[in-house]
Amino acid sequence: MNIPLSSPDIGDLEKKYVMEVLDSQQLCFGEKQREFERKFAEYVGTKYALSVNSGTSGLHLCLLALGLEPWATIATTPFSFIASANCINFVGAELELVDIDDDTLNMDLTRLDTSLLSAVLPVHVFGLPCKIPKMGISIIEDACEALGAPVGTEGDCAVFAFYPNKQITTGEGGMIVTDDKKIYDLCKSMRNQGREGDSFVRLGYNYRLSDINCAVGLAQLERIEEILVKRRQVANWYKERLKDVDWIIVPEDRKSWFVYVIRVKKDRDALMQKLQTKGVQCKNYFQPIHLTPFYRREFGYKEGDFPVAEKVSKETIALPFFNNLTEKQVDYVCEVLQE
Ligand SMILES: *Cc1c(COP(=O)(O)O)cnc(C)c1O
Repeated sequence: MNIPLSSPDIGDLEKKYVMEVLDSQQLCFGEKQREFERKFAEYVGTKYALSVNSGTSGLHLCLLALGLEPWATIATTPFSFIASANCINFVGAELELVDIDDDTLNMDLTRLDTSLLSAVLPVHVFGLPCKIPKMGISIIEDACEALGAPVGTEGDCAVFAFYPNKQITTGEGGMIVTDDKKIYDLCKSMRNQGREGDSFVRLGYNYRLSDINCAVGLAQLERIEEILVKRRQVANWYKERLKDVDWIIVPEDRKSWFVYVIRVKKDRDALMQKLQTKGVQCKNYFQPIHLTPFYRREFGYKEGDFPVAEKVSKETIALPFFNNLTEKQVDYVCEVLQE
């Protein structure tokens, strides 16, 4: 049996909406983009939603819109996808990494000394909401792994992502949400080359998302409840089979699942090798950001800097996880794991 790590769930509605765009002759800034943004804001519970061509672009625009340029110091977690830290370097700001909580795998913001910080970029890792206290500094939520969880309304703005392994996909894509009209207007202008009306009034980018992508996203968003239910079902199948295995820690329950990451108290790398030779794709989510070659070289980070993130990252295995994973496939993964 060969079981991929993730697999998109594209149905007839996605195809129908894409065909409507292709037939409409309006491939950008059309009806589907307006609908996708409108329904997305309504779903998350914010005033505004702005589509962009990736989660990474969305984070970049948010930091710029908040005025977080080279003088700023911005805190985030070393236990995340690398884009969470890279976006801070895009704007030339000072990156401050903060170690994680051993249970939730999120940054513990209650222990953060905010006096020297301009902003914090909390990540809702694997779909589990990171608790965000009132801090008196700018907050950009990296909600790229957490659509469907109660997130996205605590910060000044939040960003979601739609790569094919996320809860919903547009192929490539992302969404900025905010209640702040100023942030929305700035992001909207910078998404489209710094335009305001017919002139170019600031430095901008091309971070637009086409209507073809938005059509896929709109269909996926209309199916979000069904998608979240399917993912919770798969997570439950795993939990039933693995929760009593004494060398495995299963992840905490959550409303919205991004990936299914277990922690093992055995030789993780040997286990992953074994899974892969039996056709079970798996991954070591995450390699800590500070130990990647780029961050070691540019910022002098080394082993021991963030001990909890490092310990956790040596124990984790992301198992195959997607909407249409069957109970039989889950059985097979769990059997191979316990062999
Ligand atoms: C996926 C992801 C991103 C970036 O999304 P892209 O659309 O791939 O640019 C950012 N942060 C986290 C935590 C992610 O998981």
